[in-house]
Amino acid sequence: MDISYIINELAEEREDYFRAIAPPIMQTSNFAFKTVEAFRKSFEDEYATWLYSRGLNPTVDILRKKLAALDGAEDCLVFNSGAAAIFAAILANVKSGDHILSVRNPYTWAQRMFEVILPRFNVTHTYVDGRDTKNFSNSIQPNTTLIYLESPNSWNFELQDLAAIAQLAKQKGIVTICDNSYCTPLHQRPIALGIDLVLQSATKYIGGHSDVIAGVLSGKRSMIERIFNSEYMNIGSGIQPFNAWLLIRGLRTLPLRLERIAKTTQAVVEYLLKHPAVEKLYFPLDPAFPQYELAKKQMTSAFGLLSFVVKTREIESIEFFCESLRHFFMAVSWGGHESLIIPRCAGIKRADFDPVNPEHRMIRMYVGLEDSDYLVRDLDQAFAAMEKRSPAQ
Ligand SMILES: *Cc1c(COP(=O)(O)O)cnc(C)c1O
Repeated sequence: MDISYIINELAEEREDYFRAIAPPIMQTSNFAFKTVEAFRKSFEDEYATWLYSRGLNPTVDILRKKLAALDGAEDCLVFNSGAAAIFAAILANVKSGDHILSVRNPYTWAQRMFEVILPRFNVTHTYVDGRDTKNFSNSIQPNTTLIYLESPNSWNFELQDLAAIAQLAKQKGIVTICDNSYCTPLHQRPIALGIDLVLQSATKYIGGHSDVIAGVLSGKRSMIERIFNSEYMNIGSGIQPFNAWLLIRGLRTLPLRLERIAKTTQAVVEYLLKHPAVEKLYFPLDPAFPQYELAKKQMTSAFGLLSFVVKTREIESIEFFCESLRHFFMAVSWGGHESLIIPRCAGIKRADFDPVNPEHRMIRMYVGLEDSDYLVRDLDQAFAAMEKRSPAQ
């Protein structure tokens, strides 16, 4: 299916709503029936009808069809956050006594689920260095029911070989989940590589304007239907119609935004690689990146997020650099129009800062939709201000 068709036409039955180009927001909690028989059918199979908007809703359905098609999946559910999609996907695939194998350092709230919530229900987990598939095969236990992946992950962008891990899991009857927020389905297709469930935070690139929180979970229809009838309905965290409408709107410009961000990211990467205050850069499509070959094999682009280590011994220099930037906002999240920065040291008590540890001197950057010259000039003046304050030793 052409991406242009998915984004502009798929699931939009315009004859049903006055031939409007933009779909209506069906801001309704419930739906009326004319016959008891139709009402009865709806109770019997809520996944097939509009009954109550905690379940299905027409505006949300337009979005679901588009997002499932982009993922190359049979179906998807859209949640009120990426975290809710993660919660439902994991919960649906474990029971007491099961074991989860997860890539190390997954998204914070997946980690919290493994470490805080699931142990209360006797579900254990093991984290592995996902760069080597052997680490997964060596850590599978008889009770492993789930492998959780995120490729690339945040901060250092470690990749996992999705096809190899999916194959391994299939042989053992283990369900695989992959967080695909970084690449989006436009630039990495986990389902085509054999992964069972793919999720992404739609807050990031699908929304794209830093004004909506949402998450997508895609997979086989049977699995999605099962999750709909239990976790989705029970957690009650389905996306609201207005937010679904915002995501449909975001989708219209998704390819364009990603193309622009990829170009600008390249310019920023080239600038940073040359800068003497940059000790190390983490970006999957930098030829010096240790997993560059795998990145080229399973992703069709890399963009937006990157990290670098500042060459300094002082936390004050990093703080001063960040505070000197005029056009990068210091804020969490990413995927919107605006460029962002998060210094690792913001998550560390000042007294615990270890200048020898490169991780403590890392900055994660998100490149937005601004002009590349505008961003590079800003970085340049902030580095200059930092060096003026404390010349390199
Ligand atoms: C933001 C994010 C999430 C969570 O999404 P929310 O929409 O914030 O709940 C999950 N995974 C990754 C990689 C993210 O960056």
